[in-house]
Formats: sequence, structure tokens, C-alpha cells
Amino acid sequence: MSLKPTYEQKHKLLATPLESIRGVGPRLVEKFAKMGLSTVEHALFTLPFRYEDRRRLTRISQLTPDTRDIFFGSVLAAGEKTTSRSHRKLYEVIVGDGSGTVSLKWFHYRKPWIEKQYPVGRRGVFYGEIKRFGSILEIHHPDVEFLSQGQSPEALLQSDPLNFGRILPVYPLTEGLTQKKARKIWKEIVDRFAGLAESPIPEEIRRRQRLLPLSDALRQVHFPHSDSSLKKLEERRDAARRTLVFDEFFYLELGMALKRRGILLEQGHAFRVEHLYTKPLARMLPFRLTEAQRRVLGEIKKDMMAPHPMNRLLQGDVGSGKTVVALMAALVAIENNTQVAVVAPTEILAEQHFFQFQGWMKALGLHVVFLSGATSAAERRDILEQLQTGHAHMVVGTHAVLQKDVHFANLGLGIIDEQHRFGVLQRGCLRKKGKHPDLLVMTATPIPRTLALTVYGDLSLSVIDQLPPGRSPVVTKVLLEGQRRKAFEEISRELNEGRQAYIVYPLVEETEKSDLLAATEGAEYLSAKIFPDKTIGVLHGKMRTDEKETIMRSFKSGNLDVLVSTTVIEVGIDVPNATVMMIEHAERFGLAQLHQLRGRVGRGACQSYCLMIRSRRCSEDGLRRLEVMASTTDGFKIAEADLEIRGPGEFLGTRQAGVPDFRVANLLSDGRVLEQARQEAFSIAEDPAFLTADRYGELRQALKDRWGDRLELASLG
Ligand code: ADP
Ligand code: MG
Repeated sequence: MSLKPTYEQKHKLLATPLESIRGVGPRLVEKFAKMGLSTVEHALFTLPFRYEDRRRLTRISQLTPDTRDIFFGSVLAAGEKTTSRSHRKLYEVIVGDGSGTVSLKWFHYRKPWIEKQYPVGRRGVFYGEIKRFGSILEIHHPDVEFLSQGQSPEALLQSDPLNFGRILPVYPLTEGLTQKKARKIWKEIVDRFAGLAESPIPEEIRRRQRLLPLSDALRQVHFPHSDSSLKKLEERRDAARRTLVFDEFFYLELGMALKRRGILLEQGHAFRVEHLYTKPLARMLPFRLTEAQRRVLGEIKKDMMAPHPMNRLLQGDVGSGKTVVALMAALVAIENNTQVAVVAPTEILAEQHFFQFQGWMKALGLHVVFLSGATSAAERRDILEQLQTGHAHMVVGTHAVLQKDVHFANLGLGIIDEQHRFGVLQRGCLRKKGKHPDLLVMTATPIPRTLALTVYGDLSLSVIDQLPPGRSPVVTKVLLEGQRRKAFEEISRELNEGRQAYIVYPLVEETEKSDLLAATEGAEYLSAKIFPDKTIGVLHGKMRTDEKETIMRSFKSGNLDVLVSTTVIEVGIDVPNATVMMIEHAERFGLAQLHQLRGRVGRGACQSYCLMIRSRRCSEDGLRRLEVMASTTDGFKIAEADLEIRGPGEFLGTRQAGVPDFRVANLLSDGRVLEQARQEAFSIAEDPAFLTADRYGELRQALKDRWGDRLELASLG
């Protein structure tokens, strides 16, 4: 029998509660719990958020302002002062080392105590952020360690190796725990437990990716070697941290890879591209597909021709032309005698797709039906019948398409538009409606690639990264409420040239009624006072489907000049002649929403404008959002800014289940490591022996420990 603890035993030991660590009393336990730390493992993976370089002393004359540094000095003078400007009291101590002097300042202190601490002549080692005011170097609230009689500064550094003579970790802390105490606690945890941390990533990958053993990585990331590069540590590029980040991403992606493999193993439709309908459609289109559209279509076709089900995410900025790509894919499925289901998140968007598709499909002699919650019972029965018998080639609709009693004769392709509005479950629903149909999900919310790989990691990704030619970016202006006149002038100018305008009112929080009120009252005011000679229509969420449809139709056909609306126009609506949009209370909208809204204009060849009206009182985040909008029209940049402002959880919204909180990794800055981890994980998952071979036993166990439940990896047993 071997005495070496197994992977599982080690894993259990890492779950040791923090209260069994020396120095961690009940109060600290409570504080740690609030930070989400309850076991030594949690602490091990709570990394320093920065480091302090206390390796060697710097002469005062060599100190660099705006850095943190450590130096020796003896007290030359000390006393209380009052600042000349704000009349605040402060305590100042001047220390020198023969090469120069530094002024130490305290703004919070107890006078009797501090006077005793700093008698003239006392010697110490000081640490803090060096600032320069004129020719004077200052540190506010420095750290200090006093020398004892006759002790040399060097001897001090050596006597306290935890706090001096090394690169020190600085931890994210709560009140009541000093860095010094934290270092002591972490040192004990690292010394006693880091050695148990183990990650059974195969040797070959470790070598190729130059990973440290997990335990070494933990030791080093908390207490770096003295000869480590501080620059790398500060830029978070050190090998130890990279190992931890890789490790974290690797298991996530391994889970994703297995999920995807599960789908790949299924027998799907192996379509043949016959060009029976696609060629004629291409000839009918008033434009040529862009390079990006063609590339993406190629990727989709390749998937569709393969014998296993397609599971692909099509990402493209608003207006990049996803719809026609989806239609082409749909025609491939129909050429192969299968049916297509297209699902959109809102009634309006589904209707728009329906009318658009219907136009082309009719011309090709194909039959498409529409299904939504508003479809009457009799009509619904008829439509279900047409789908079940295979009479209808395609259904376009809302969630109603996903309902249990909707059956297909032979569903070959499911398309979900604006995937971010749905959850993972809907994909599953659609998949079950056929024999392993292909699945194409589309999103116009540009998700930064790193996030796409984590959230939709089991999907393959196609990106339309090019807008149709002749579009110039929408000119965006942020105006204060008081400047609304200016906006109206710009709108009038466009209207007088025969163009159309959107005016958007935000969802007012309290009730939907007031939201509706804002839009309807707004419309009344506009038609009476501002645009008396123009026709104005109102669109809001409370209208009946046929009412909405009528309004949308007349706006599309140019019978309405102005569409006043709540946010229901947010997604997908396509009216190229609309060239100006005014958004009221723009600061209340999220970035993704603003980007979607603005995407309603700039869809034709003419210069378009977006006028964002903000109120005087506007949160800091609100201002930042508007600044982002004014500075770029690039959806990916906007998404990244959004992710930065809100963080991944918020960014994706509560509907996105299964987004892990990363312990170590940062989705924004660790994108490269994510790609590398993904590649390695996916190639391992391709090994047919992965699910059964003994050599992968520990790896499978580790995978289960980390993500098992969340990834629903039933196949791991
Ligand atoms: P989204 O990707 O936001 O769904 P759409 O598919 O609605 O965008 O397309 C936006 C507009 O661009 C539509 O009016 C569409 O007809 C048009 N369009 C699509 N592809 C091209 C192209 N290759 N050249 C010119 N116009 C195009
Ligand atoms: Mg669209």
C-alpha cells in the first residue's frame, strides 16, 4: 500500500476550513466568509492583487517619485503642523540617510502615541508610495519597522524574511486585517497546503505550454522568488499566474469540448448543396454578398454537409447582414427536403423575418408560415398541421414555435435569432424537434471572443466582421436636455430630404403604463408643436400584434415620417431610409441596448445620425456609456467596454446560466491563454479513449470536481 495521498485525498484536505489556521479567529472567519473564503483552497486561489518590492534598500537620493519603495532613515525632526490651505492638522516627521531627506506625513494619528514613536535619532526602515511636491519627497502613512540598538538595516531585513528582503504580496482585504497579518496567514496556508494542490493535466501539455506544477505556481504567485521579474508580476505575465489561469481555463474548455463531442457523436443530416434555391436567390438579391458573408456561409455549409449536427454561433454586428446568410442556410436545408424553424425573441422581429423570408420564398415557390402567441387557435391548428405533414417548408415565429405540440415532418435546421435573449434551454428544445437537426444561433450583441468561447464554448463560432459596402458610421452626438431644439433641427433637416426618423423613449421603471404614456404623450407633443406637417406613428409593447404590424408596415413603406417608440424597436428592425434617431434619457439605457438601437439607422447608403439626449443628473457609469457610444460604432469595442463596466456576470444577464466565476483568470486580459487552453482541451477531448482510459482517470475526476454539475457532464459517470 502506498502512503502517498491520492488525488482525491489531497482534494479533501484542501477543503480544510480556514478556522483551523493559526491566527484566524471567529471574527476573521466571518469576514473571510463575506469575501467568499471558507476553505484553505479558497485562500490559495485568492491571489495578491499587487506586489511590493522590498528586496533591497534604496538610498533616499535614488528614490523615484510615484513608485513604492523601501529605504533606511533616521528621524531628524518631528512635530504637528496645520496645512496652510485647509487648516487640517497633520503630523510630520523628517527622516534622512545622509543622501537626502523624506517628509513622512500622517493625517490620522494619536498625538501622544506618535510623539513617542518618532523621537529624534530613532532609526527605521520605511516603505510607501513616494510623492514629490516641488523639491520635497513625501510619503503619507508609511509602513515602518524600527531598528533596535546597534542593529544594521541589513540585519533587520534578514531578521524578518516574511516582510522584508523579498517581493511581498498585497491581498484584497476587508477591514480589520492588516497586510502584515494577512501575509502571515497566507504564508502558513501556502506552506502547509500548496503542496497538496495538483492538477492532472497530462505531462505533454504541461511541457508544451510550459506550465509549472500547480503547487509551485501557487507558492510563487503568493511569495515570489527574490529573482522574479517585478515587471512581469505587475503586468500579470509571470509564469506562475499564467499556469493558474491556464489551469482554470483548461477545465472549463475541456467540459465544453466534451459537451460538443456529445453532439458531434450524434448522427445528423449530411446535407448536399444542390444550389437548387440558393443560386436563384443570389441572382434575385439586389446586392452581392460581402466577403465576410461568403466566408461565413462557407463555414455553415461545410457544417451542414458533415454527417453530424451543426452547432454554430453566427455573430455579426448590427446591420452586418446575418439574415440573408440565415436564409441561404435555410435554403440548403430545404433543398434537401427538410424543414426549417426560425425563432426570434420578439413578436415584431419574428414578423419582420417572416415578411422578409416570405418575399424571397414565394418567389422560389416555397411555403413559409408564421406562428406566435397571438396566432388564433384555428389558424394555429392549421399551421401545426402544415408543419406536421411537411406542407410548410419553414416556420418563423416566437417562443410559440418551441411549444410541445409543435411537430415537424422532418426538421433539418433550427435558427435562433438574437440568441442572447434566449437561454441554453431553448436551444435544446429546438434540437429535440427533429432527428438531430442542425442548429444555427445568431447574435448581434457582439460578445468579446473570450466570453463567447466560455459561454458558448460548445458552439463553433462564425463572425461577420465586415459591414456591407457604402455604409458610413453613424454620427453620434450627446446633447443635454436643454439642447433638444438642436436635435429637432437635425431631424427636420433629414425629414425634409425625404428621410425618416426614430424617436425613442426609455422604459420608465415604475410601471409599463408610464412608459407607454411617455411615448404617446411624446408623440402628441411632437406632432402638435415640433413636426406639424409630418406624419407620426407610435409603437409600443402594449399594442396588439396587428396594430404593431400596421404601424411597422407604414413606416417601412414610407407612409410615416417619424416613428415614436418605446424600446420595442430595439432588435433587428430594418428600414434603410431611416437616417436619424433621437434617444430620450439615453443615460438610462445599457450599452448593448444603445448599440442595438443605434443600429436601426445607418442601414442605407446615406449618412445617418444618432442624437442621444441626456439629463443633467446622470450617473458616472451613465456618462461613461454615452462617451463610449460617441467614440465608436464598433460593436466589439462597445461590448468590451460594457464587459469592463459591468463585469461578466452582469454583462450576460441572469438568463445566461453556466457562466463560471473565475477564481484567477480575467476574461478581458487573459484571452490568449484562454485560446491556448481551449486548443489543448479540445484536442484531448478528441481522444476516443478519453471517457474510459485509466490514464485519464484523475483528469476526469478533476473535471468533475470543478465543473461537473454545471456542465451537466453525465457522460463522466
Ligand atoms: P443584421 O445582421 O443586423 O440582422 P440584416 O440582416 O437585417 O442585419 O441586414 C441589414 C441590411 O443590410 C438589410 O437591409 C440587408 O438587406 C442589407 N444587406 C445585407 N447584406 C448586404 C450586402 N452584402 N450588401 C448590401 N446590403 C446588404
Ligand atoms: Mg438581424
